Amino acid sequence: MRIRSVRTTLASRLHSTGEQWITDRYRSIKADLVVVAVELEDGTVGIGEASPYGIPAMIADWVEWLSRDLIGADLFNDRAVPRPNGTATIGRVGSSHDFAAAGIDCAIWDARGKIRGASVARLLNPDADDRVKVYASGGVRFDWRKDPNVLVEDVRDYVDAGYDTVKVRLGTAWRWDRVTPGRFLDLYDEALAEAGPGVRIAVDANCRLGLEEAIELARGLESRGAPFLEEPFPNTDLALYAELKRHTFLPISGGESFSSHEQYRPWLEYGLLDIVQPDAGVMGITELCLVGRTAESVGVQVIPHSWHNGLMAMANANAVAALPNAPMVEECMVQGPLKWGIAAAGSPVREGSIDLSDRHGLGFELIPDLEQRFPNIEGHYGVEVFRDER
Ligand SMILES: [Mg+2]
Repeated sequence: MRIRSVRTTLASRLHSTGEQWITDRYRSIKADLVVVAVELEDGTVGIGEASPYGIPAMIADWVEWLSRDLIGADLFNDRAVPRPNGTATIGRVGSSHDFAAAGIDCAIWDARGKIRGASVARLLNPDADDRVKVYASGGVRFDWRKDPNVLVEDVRDYVDAGYDTVKVRLGTAWRWDRVTPGRFLDLYDEALAEAGPGVRIAVDANCRLGLEEAIELARGLESRGAPFLEEPFPNTDLALYAELKRHTFLPISGGESFSSHEQYRPWLEYGLLDIVQPDAGVMGITELCLVGRTAESVGVQVIPHSWHNGLMAMANANAVAALPNAPMVEECMVQGPLKWGIAAAGSPVREGSIDLSDRHGLGFELIPDLEQRFPNIEGHYGVEVFRDER
């Protein structure tokens, strides 16, 4: 079966004020979507979502450039599929090349599954799980100055929706409002109490902590049964990760920005992470599974990063189902109606899990009027927030 064409569709949706999420540096004002579609000679179309953290229009440009070798190639010829080169950078304007390669790879896998009449998970591993646990990832709308209790409300909403594992962030700039690890842990305790028994809350530090802060926070989270602490430091500060691990047994996770398995090597070789977080929208399913197998060989778990729309979540979910060392997948809870509004069948998440049985490919079909309902909006998804941190 040969590939006839490859094209890219861009879509967006502005967040309403209450939907916007905010970090220490910027406020997110819109959700973006990049879908790569691979059409086969029999009319079958495979689709994959590329992380829009590059620039969506540049990703589309790269898809067109990288597709020259794909047109006319056999669907199962791996050598025709572009590989990421490890230059993606999440959160800033990274290499759109790798995001494009990732979207193509996911679309190829979707097409392969549709042709074979099997889920991508089953193609990757005949013994793949049918059910994938999903954790609710959000807790990123609270402003320490205005109303930190928004964090508690968000956690309650996720638990009410059936999730038993949640991930939250650190909120707006700590120095601006004299926030300490102890003050954060007090708010965390309120969220835990609101969530009720059996709910576990992970924390993503988005590379913002100093060593002393990280040690205090990690010890506090460890004593509260948190599942993991994500990216306490920038992913260039390997020595800080090594030092933190001397002070806590709390699992430390990271790697969401990496787009090639080579980038994970020092982290796995030197035991700096307990959980790695590759993302099919950043590196593709093929590369993600390579990371997963290497991680398994050194006893490290895989919990994919998945911070955009439903098609990407399904790509990551299929990889989780196929990998023996992947206990769950992330679902972004602040993407708004774009996330599952693009799915013809709506959200597949039921009580915090996705059932992949009886699905073909990634198990996801787009609505027919995607571009009319969510027209593309150019420009960056975030506006910078300036705060005097003296
Ligand atoms: Mg993260």
